[in-house]
Amino acid sequence: MTASNPTSRNANTTAAIPSLDPTPEIFSWGRYPRVEHRAVYKLYWADQVAGIIANSGAGSCLPYGLGRSYGDSCLNAGRTLIDCSRLDRILAFDRQTGRICCEAGVSLADILQVAVPAGWFLPVTPGTKFVTVGGAIANDVHGKNHHRAGTFGRHVQRLYMYRSDLGELDCTPNHNEDLFRATIGGLGLTGVILAAEIQLKPIAGDRIETDSIPFRSLAEFQALAEESDNAFEYTVAWVDCFSARHLRGIFIRGNHAPGFHNAWTNRSGPRVPFAVPDLLLNRHTLKLFNSAYFHLKSRRGKSARVPLDGFFYPLDAIRQWNLLYGSRGFLQYQCVIPETEIAALEGILAKIAGSGLGSFLAVLKRFGTIASPGMLSFPRPGLTLALDFPMAGEHTLQLLRDLDEIAIPSGGAVYPAKDARMDSRAFEASFPAWREFERYRDPVLSSTFWRRVTGGASAGVTEG
Ligand SMILES: Cc1cc2nc3c(=O)[nH]c(=O)nc-3n(C[C@H](O)[C@H](O)[C@H](O)COP(=O)(O)OP(=O)(O)OC[C@H]3O[C@@H](n4cnc5c(N)ncnc54)[C@H](O)[C@@H]3O)c2cc1C
Repeated sequence: MTASNPTSRNANTTAAIPSLDPTPEIFSWGRYPRVEHRAVYKLYWADQVAGIIANSGAGSCLPYGLGRSYGDSCLNAGRTLIDCSRLDRILAFDRQTGRICCEAGVSLADILQVAVPAGWFLPVTPGTKFVTVGGAIANDVHGKNHHRAGTFGRHVQRLYMYRSDLGELDCTPNHNEDLFRATIGGLGLTGVILAAEIQLKPIAGDRIETDSIPFRSLAEFQALAEESDNAFEYTVAWVDCFSARHLRGIFIRGNHAPGFHNAWTNRSGPRVPFAVPDLLLNRHTLKLFNSAYFHLKSRRGKSARVPLDGFFYPLDAIRQWNLLYGSRGFLQYQCVIPETEIAALEGILAKIAGSGLGSFLAVLKRFGTIASPGMLSFPRPGLTLALDFPMAGEHTLQLLRDLDEIAIPSGGAVYPAKDARMDSRAFEASFPAWREFERYRDPVLSSTFWRRVTGGASAGVTEG
C-alpha cells in the first residue's frame, strides 16, 4: 500500500519505535483472566509498527484496541501488546457519500461525533461505542440490525495493514481478497490493521422510534422476531435468566425517526471508581433487579422516541461498569444456536436459571441469514444468547462447560470476543475453518486465546 497509504507521514520523519507503556497491567473488559505482559507499546504513528515487529519473534505480538473484548482474545500473556488506540485520526470523510477513512484506533464514538450531525450513522454497531475500528473489524462485530445489515465487516471497503512477512499492503473484497476475508473476524492475528475505509449509512434523524413488548416464552419471542424483522431495522430482547420455568423477557424493536434534535451528545456519565465488594452482586440482588426490570418495562407505554445513545449504548452511561462485578471480574457467555434446535436453547436457559449464577444483562437476538464475510466470523443464522456471569471460580467455569455441552452438539458456536475459557474442541466445532485461516496468520502474531483454543498447534507457538 506504500503509494496509497493514507496514514503515511511526511517522508522526512523517522519511524522511531514508540516508547514502552509504563503501566503494562492491561485488562480485558471482564477483568478475567489477569495476565502480565512483557511489554506494551503504544503506537502514535502507523509507520512505527514495522520497528516493533521487526524486533519480535514468532508468536510474540498482538494488536490491542480499547480492551472491550471480555476475555483473553485481546490479551497476550507474557508477551507483547501493540496498543493501537492512539492511531486515532479520521483521515477523510465525504459528507455526500458517507465514505469514511480512518486510522484503526479511531473509536466508534469518534466516528459518531462527526457522522451523526452530518446525517450518517454506523452501518453496524455493537452495544458499546467505545471500541476501535480495528477491534470492530478483528471481531467482525454485530448489532441489533444483523437481520438487515449483517456484520461490521460487510461495510468495510478497504483495509490498510502491516504484516511481518509482506510489509504494508491493502486489501478489499476484490483485491488480496483471501487476506481480506481472513482479517475480517481474524482476531488481530493476520496483521496490524492501520486504517480502514467504511461505508456509513444515511439517517433521517437522530432518534429511534422504539416499542417494548413483554413476552413469556421462546415461542412468543420467535413470533415477535418473525413479525418484526421485516418492518424494523433493529430488534433485540432482554431475558430474565432467573425465570426458569416461565421464561419472560422484553422484546425491543426500533426504526430511525425523522428529524434532527441535536440529541447526539456523546457525553459519558458517572464512573464506577473501583471494583465493588463481591457481595453486592449476588443471586438475590440480581434476581430482584431482573424482576423489577421486567415489571417496569411491562407496565411502561409501548412506544417511545429515544436518543441514539440511549437506544444503542445504555451501558455506556456508566463508565467502567465492569467494576460492579467486583475484584474477581466476570465472564460473558455468548453462543448462537440454530433456530431448529430450540430445545437446546431452552436447556441452556434452564441450566443457567438452575445455577443461580446469571446476571441482569441477558440478551437474546435472532441473527439473520446475511452471510458474514470473515473466515472466522461468529454470526450465522440462529438465535444468539449473551449474558454475564460473575467469576465465582470453578462453579462458574463448570457451568460454562456445561453450556458448551448443550450448545456445541446442537450445531451452535461460541463467540471468541466474549470468551476466556472455551477449549479446543468447542473452538474447532464452532470454527472449523480455523486451519485454513492459520495460513493467513502473521507468524509474529498470537494471543492467549489463540494458543489456548488451538492447543499450541499453531506454528510452533508455546505458552509464554
Ligand atoms: C458493553 C459491551 C457491549 C458489547 N456489545 C457487542 C455487540 O453487541 N456485538 C458484538 O459483536 N460485540 C460486542 N461487544 C464486544 C466488542 O464489540 C468487541 O470485543 C470489540 O472487538 C472490542 O473492540 P476493541 O477496540 O476494544 O478491541 P480489543 O478488545 O482491544 O481487541 C479485540 C480484537 O481486535 C484486535 N485488534 C484491535 N486493534 C487491532 C488492529 N489495529 N489491528 C488488528 N487487530 C486489532 C485484537 O488483537 C483483538 O483480537 C461488546 C463489548 C462491550 C464491553
